[in-house]
Amino acid sequence: MRIGIGWDSHRLTAQRPLLLGGIQVPAPFGEDGHSDGDVLLHAIIDALLGAAALGDIGTHFPPSDQRWKDACSSELLTAVCRLINAEGLSVHSIDSTIILQRPRLAPHIEQIRSSLAQLLHIDLSYVSVKAKTAEGLGPVGEGLSIEAQAVVLLHEETPDIWL
Ligand code: MG
Repeated sequence: MRIGIGWDSHRLTAQRPLLLGGIQVPAPFGEDGHSDGDVLLHAIIDALLGAAALGDIGTHFPPSDQRWKDACSSELLTAVCRLINAEGLSVHSIDSTIILQRPRLAPHIEQIRSSLAQLLHIDLSYVSVKAKTAEGLGPVGEGLSIEAQAVVLLHEETPDIWL
């Protein structure tokens, strides 16, 4: 087994949709960012790359590269899953936390979990998404930003043929 941790934070802006785990959540604001800003997918991507010791999201998709301008983070996650698989690793399970002052995310958690299960090709029961506020404290609490944390477990696939 390999374990990886990921964290991400984005400013909130009225000009963007709020994307979480590949799902658009109704809100009067969304994440500012070079890509589509999906803070949860970015934390998960860093956790996956970390577990495989393959660097981080910035080394694979640098913001200086115009190819990733407004990039769909679901596609970035799929590309990272391919990298992981090429290393002989598969996703076992994931746990995550989104920290956002408002709106309440509880009504959307199941849809976000389903989206992640689909993107990661694992059963829903191996995907956990939690949400909490920052109790009004700091930039998240003041509604200026959003954060996400993720932990993933990868397992090494047993090769069919031992060379
Ligand atoms: Mg990010």
